[in-house]
Amino acid sequence: MLLRMSTLFLRTLREDPADAEVPSHKLLVRGGYVRRAAPGIYSWLPLGKIVLENVARVVREEMDAMGGQEVLLPALLPREFYETTGRWDDYGPNLFRLQDRKGADYLLGPTHEELFTLLVKGEYSSYKDFPVVLYQIQEKFRDEARPRAGVLRGREFHMKDSYSFDIDDEGLQASYDAHRAAYQRIFERLGLEYVIVSATSGAMGGSASEEFLAVAPTGEDTFVRSTESDYAANVEAVTTPAPAARPLDGLPEAVVHHTPGTATIQTLVDFLNGAGLGRDFVEADTLKNVLVKTRAPGADEWELLAVGLPGDREVDFKRLEAALEPAEVALLDESDFAANPFLVKGYIGPRALLDNKVRYLVDPRVVTGTAWVTGADRDEHHVIDLVAGRDFTPDGTIDVAEVRDGDPSPDGKGTLYTARGIEIGHIFQLGRKYTDAFQVDALGSDGKPKRITMGSYGIGVSRAVASVVEQSHDDKGIVWPREIAPADVHVVGTGKGDQIEEALRIAGELRDQGLRVLVDDRKGVSPGVKFTDAELLGVPTSVIIGRGLKDGLVELRDRATGEREEVALGDIVERTV
Ligand code: ATP
Ligand code: MG
Ligand code: MG
Ligand code: MG
Repeated sequence: MLLRMSTLFLRTLREDPADAEVPSHKLLVRGGYVRRAAPGIYSWLPLGKIVLENVARVVREEMDAMGGQEVLLPALLPREFYETTGRWDDYGPNLFRLQDRKGADYLLGPTHEELFTLLVKGEYSSYKDFPVVLYQIQEKFRDEARPRAGVLRGREFHMKDSYSFDIDDEGLQASYDAHRAAYQRIFERLGLEYVIVSATSGAMGGSASEEFLAVAPTGEDTFVRSTESDYAANVEAVTTPAPAARPLDGLPEAVVHHTPGTATIQTLVDFLNGAGLGRDFVEADTLKNVLVKTRAPGADEWELLAVGLPGDREVDFKRLEAALEPAEVALLDESDFAANPFLVKGYIGPRALLDNKVRYLVDPRVVTGTAWVTGADRDEHHVIDLVAGRDFTPDGTIDVAEVRDGDPSPDGKGTLYTARGIEIGHIFQLGRKYTDAFQVDALGSDGKPKRITMGSYGIGVSRAVASVVEQSHDDKGIVWPREIAPADVHVVGTGKGDQIEEALRIAGELRDQGLRVLVDDRKGVSPGVKFTDAELLGVPTSVIIGRGLKDGLVELRDRATGEREEVALGDIVERTV
């Protein structure tokens, strides 16, 4: 490849675009890689298209290597497929919906589980046909509420989406693992610093799901990572091993719901005080919470730490009453925490409602309650929902646990700190959600039909381009990793003499050696402008053909390190290949 800047469809800009806030947006526009067509909709110009295709090539190579087969499905899809799975409605305003001339409803595909499932159903029918992994690289359409940051969050964007179809759960696990490994290779080759975090699967439905996040302060996702181990997790999905909590045997089975009820905290306090439980109850001034512990009748030890609720909260008074009746209740004091760092089984309510006073790690999926209290080393009191036994029904009140810097890592190694990332990939074990919807069976070896199980796996190809720039730039421009750079080498001819001729000759030679070459052969453009452009464009190596040419010397520049070196003209091919 040899691209001549004298004719290349490229205009670089000195000024940041007015609507750009993040580095990748600024630099990709200024470098003439992309141009905005409409909000969240971008055109890829020649150099941008090359980078985009380079990313796609890396993705293809690794997907092919793990056994994926590339296909290309339509982006324009009839409503009925998405009606069957409920996603025509579930997607809400994010879906681009349109009608054909006869008034039939269509949509522009935001992701393709439906059509892939139908495709496989149409072609395959025996267990011998499976497993199969199909993928495509295609434009996706989502009417994002806040398209932002250029191609980082577009309304039309490029995604690699793949789908695995297996006869059983072990097969799905293997397909998932193979994707995970392929993704690791892909993001490594793209030169991205990333973490893998466990994620909630959201609207996709299904169980196991992990996100690949490119670490970047401009990212929209917050995750926590450990200071001392590889542990990383989406904040919403921090999972903790259930602590060695003391058994709750003999305790009242009780739940206090966080649903709007009949009592405010003052009512609760009044109730407790009036209940003749042998203790005084007060509302703790500073915390606006009531902290209590209970003792079952006849029991020697105080066992259960009970509720405190912020002053503006309401509790289901009747249930609370029922819960507390057979027990004694007492105010909790600091020594309880000190003595029993993991005393309570419980779960944590919504962060906002808890007034930012809680610092627990919770697995929100475990509805029997596995939150644990790290009271012993805390300087604050804690607010805990009253929970005992198995009768715990979260009733939609589970929310996000607040994880803070300095919390212990769930794997026991180091402490957690928060960081931000860009979601560049996402892998899901979908299970049978879609194959149930479309009734996709294969005849098993025993002659009986078996329901196929599925995974789906996405990579934001266009987003990956921007993510690389987020991680790899300086104040002068982009610093491309070679694997996806628009060229391997940027030959810059400066001066009015035969430097440009020489630049073209060297560029040709480098091209013949198999390098991808960009040559600045523009006449009447100052060296300063050419150097500035070279730094903005970010090709890994530059060869400057300038004044030294008369002494047989050219200059090699390394974009990443900024190192410069005079090299004999005759050595240049050898040095750059
Ligand atoms: P996000 O949380 O950023 O909205 P998502 O979870 O909705 O992403 P998925 O449905 O998991 O996205 O799609 C797979 C991949 O497609 C994502 O991991 C991301 O890399 C990419 N992607 C999703 N939405 C966009 C978008 N609007 N623009 C560019 N890439 C996107
Ligand atoms: Mg999204
Ligand atoms: Mg997401
Ligand atoms: Mg996702």
